[in-house]
Amino acid sequence: MNYPTIQHLIGRDWIASPTPEDRAVINPANGQTIGQIPQASAADLDHAVHSAESAFRRWKNSSPMERSAILRRFADLLRQNDRLIAGWITLDEGKPLAEALAEVRASADHVDWHAEECRRIYGRIIPSRSPGVQQLVVREPIGVCLAITPWNFPLSQAVRKVAAALASGCTMILKAPAEAPAGCMAIARYLLDAGLPEGCLNLVWGNAAFISETLIARPEVRKITFTGSVEVGKHLAELAGRHMKRATMELGGHAPVLVFDDADATAAARALAGNKLRNAGQVCIAPTRFYVQQGIYDRFLSELVSAFESVKVGDGLTEGTQMGPLCHRGRVNAMEKLVEDARENGARVLTGGKRVGNHGNFYAPTVVDTPNDDIDLMREEPFGPIAVVSSFREIEDGLSRANGLPFGLASYVFTNSLERADKAAAGLQAGMVSINQFGLALPETPFGGVRDSGYGTEGGTETFEGYLNTKFISRNRA
Ligand code: NAD
Repeated sequence: MNYPTIQHLIGRDWIASPTPEDRAVINPANGQTIGQIPQASAADLDHAVHSAESAFRRWKNSSPMERSAILRRFADLLRQNDRLIAGWITLDEGKPLAEALAEVRASADHVDWHAEECRRIYGRIIPSRSPGVQQLVVREPIGVCLAITPWNFPLSQAVRKVAAALASGCTMILKAPAEAPAGCMAIARYLLDAGLPEGCLNLVWGNAAFISETLIARPEVRKITFTGSVEVGKHLAELAGRHMKRATMELGGHAPVLVFDDADATAAARALAGNKLRNAGQVCIAPTRFYVQQGIYDRFLSELVSAFESVKVGDGLTEGTQMGPLCHRGRVNAMEKLVEDARENGARVLTGGKRVGNHGNFYAPTVVDTPNDDIDLMREEPFGPIAVVSSFREIEDGLSRANGLPFGLASYVFTNSLERADKAAAGLQAGMVSINQFGLALPETPFGGVRDSGYGTEGGTETFEGYLNTKFISRNRA
């Protein structure tokens, strides 16, 4: 497969001069080097800022129809090249090809939705207190945005930000993930092919701390939008605060699942297993802390274990693979540490709990049964193929344990009782609640967290809030 050469895109130029700091892109299924990540210099970043700023002066005045047409062509190009892009994502991120294809197609849907919705960015007129005065509220793009995105959905995480920024008339500098870079190369390549004017999207690679500190401090950069861990998010929010920059923070979670005893234990366990192991569990909204009511605990647990044991783990490019490797070696080490802590502190590992094979970053689908929340797995986001299960008695007990961490991203409820569903939905401290299904992260619905999981929303009509300023104009006819 023709893996792309990873380069910066600055203005209309693709550039990458090799440096001793360049780092390798590794195929997580076999450890082979498939590419090199260039490192942006201070001069590269300076060029990117000038390029994005000068493009913004024209792009902010483009009509929504013009922006919409370019984005629609981009979405079409993603669809036309879906197999090529999906192959790249499987090579560098590791997910099975079918999941990578789904990511490309979902990304195209996100772009289409933003292309349509940007035609409906409206202002308003507020009735005035004097007959000769007219009061207008207009929305204006905020300017050059910096986006920093993670490797787990290398295409779709970046697409959400790029589409929202461009659709609202902003320009962008994208710092993409070194672990899985090809998805962002596809975004830049196909946006140019779709007719995006030069400088509207600039793509840079390299030292994340250097890039964020340099760019957030630049007066031309007006906003930072970040998806990644809570730790890095808090650091970037501080930088944004110091320089008075707008910020959107899509951070980590540790999604609780409440399974009540009136739910169908078998159906819930099977559905949760499939969703939990998507992308080998490296999903910020993955169901992770399973709280199951006592009456169906044993049945649920045995169904979950058998569903986990039936999953075929292997290279994502191999036909029939249902779960691929973890994206990088650090994730495998993290799984080993969490499972070791669980074993030492009174939890039972019912299946998995070990690496698979002797090359590549494979880790077995793992179910851990714990009587309490005292193990690290119940506190730290595993971001891997581990489900940790514990029982609860009453709804109040389940809710209080579900809300017991500082995170608040996704949460899930399984029940046949409308009363319990409503009570759980109202009581869960989370940005998103999904009941008896996995209905999150659609283009037309808002996606975001509360508490340590961040602030700001992507998707839904809320998506443009992060990219627009509100200007009030009061004019007298005299
Ligand atoms: P990470 O925070 O380590 O890295 C995310 C991005 O930030 C990468 O591009 C990385 O290079 C960059 N980065 C690292 N240090 C930086 C610094 N000092 N300054 C600027 N940028 C820096 O996270 P990760 O391991 O890549 O991704 C996993 C985390 O992301 C998990 O916690 C997961 O829950 C979270 N996540 C959240 C969402 C969401 O929408 N809420 C989606 C996906 C992933």
